[in-house]
Amino acid sequence: MAAVVTGKQYGLYIDGQWQETEEKRPVLNKYTQEPAAWISIAQKEHADAAVQSAKKAFKVPFAPYARYEVLLKASQLLLERVEKFAQVLAIEIGKPIRECRGEVERAAQTLEISAEEAKRIHGEGIPVEAAPGSENRMSFTVRVPVGVIAAITPFNVPLNLVCHKVGPALAAGNTVVLKPAEVTSICAVMLAEVLEEAGLPKGRLQVLTGSGSAIGNWLLSNPDVQMFTFTGSPVVGKDIREKAGLRKVALELGNNSATIVHKDANIEQSANLIAQKGFNNAGQVCISVQRVYVHEEIFEAFLSSLKEKTEAFVVGDPLDEKTEIGPMIKESEAVRVEAWVNEAVEQGAVIETGGKRDGAFYYPTILSNVKEEMKVCRQEVFGPVLSVVPYKEQDEVIAKVNDSDYGLQAGLFTNDLKFAMKAAREIEVGGLIINDASAYRVDHMPYGGVKNSGTGKEGPKYAIEEMTEERIVVLNI
Ligand code: NAD
Repeated sequence: MAAVVTGKQYGLYIDGQWQETEEKRPVLNKYTQEPAAWISIAQKEHADAAVQSAKKAFKVPFAPYARYEVLLKASQLLLERVEKFAQVLAIEIGKPIRECRGEVERAAQTLEISAEEAKRIHGEGIPVEAAPGSENRMSFTVRVPVGVIAAITPFNVPLNLVCHKVGPALAAGNTVVLKPAEVTSICAVMLAEVLEEAGLPKGRLQVLTGSGSAIGNWLLSNPDVQMFTFTGSPVVGKDIREKAGLRKVALELGNNSATIVHKDANIEQSANLIAQKGFNNAGQVCISVQRVYVHEEIFEAFLSSLKEKTEAFVVGDPLDEKTEIGPMIKESEAVRVEAWVNEAVEQGAVIETGGKRDGAFYYPTILSNVKEEMKVCRQEVFGPVLSVVPYKEQDEVIAKVNDSDYGLQAGLFTNDLKFAMKAAREIEVGGLIINDASAYRVDHMPYGGVKNSGTGKEGPKYAIEEMTEERIVVLNI
């Protein structure tokens, strides 16, 4: 199966041409740690050429219906190739094959939703005639594309998160320079091949693979890039915001997601969903459950059910159909997670299950007796570690959830309508999920955080708002 990508060399995609560079780096199979394929490493001249091509292509008309047709065709092509893409994803991220199939299907949906949105980009009527002296005027707004957009994406959901940027940007009539994560670049390059096959006009999309900071800085210093849309870590997001100056920036950053399990919750259902959504992709999801607050009346019963479900996970080769948890993206990441857990234990935390590392694998781990200031609670673990904390009062638990630098999504298991409404009003997040864990997402919903989790929303309709400008037209009749 691994033969799908072994040894293949992937080029840069600039001005509708595939170009291989002299310098190449391997993308590793994250399970075997052997090179799976080789990517070209872009230099400054490539970044400049990509932006120039995107600038030129922006001037060439590309009608909304034509955008719809290309994006829909690309979505259909992805669906025809679910297995091929899923295998590449499993190899380059180390995510279990069954989850990877789900990511490819969702990526196809993201493109399909983007295609549909391409036909619905509109402004509104503005009643300027209501102002004294403007009785003979009429007005409306139109939404116009911003121009060249740099899209920079993370390693953990490397196909669907690319689609969440490229889909809406193209749907809105922009041109895109894409910089995918170095360690998981293959599926992004393959997506460009699919878009090309679907008829995307030359220059609408450019793909630069290579070093994040080098390419990022070349794009940031190029005044012909009008907008940066970034998903990744807060530290890089902040750097992009500082360097982008007055240009548009949309940031989807990290989180230390909380989920509350109230005393009336269904213990089996909540433990099951929290185990699934805390440990999938080895916890490397921005809305992965990290802090679990459980009402003291059901704490012991919940913990025992969560432990049972966690211990049942099959850890192993991502290409094995039975595997539910694969390796982390790099051994150094598993070592970091191990160090954070060990530090928490030194400070009094108790390992309820897990706490073991084997190379890049970190076994699904549950901690109790944690304190809010421990790294495993305070910072983003981005690994398979849940901390379970008891609470008594509703106000107390809402304050604990809000005691975070982040605010992407949170979950709340309860059928107490009053508590659910109070939480909806008071929990400081971009999304609150009732009767599911924090990590629920479908691709057409508005998605994005507050505080250090970022600014701007994704979900094609909402991303298109970020990626267009509203222009008012006033008629003097
Ligand atoms: P990262 O910040 O290390 O890298 C993200 C991208 O930025 C990569 O393409 C990388 O090459 C590039 N990059 C690195 N340095 C850069 C620089 N100086 N200038 C410009 N670009 C640069 O993040 P990661 O490790 O790939 O992903 C994990 C992070 O992403 C976590 O914090 C996670 O929460 C976050 N994330 C957020 C969401 C969301 O929707 N909010 C989704 C997925 C991941």
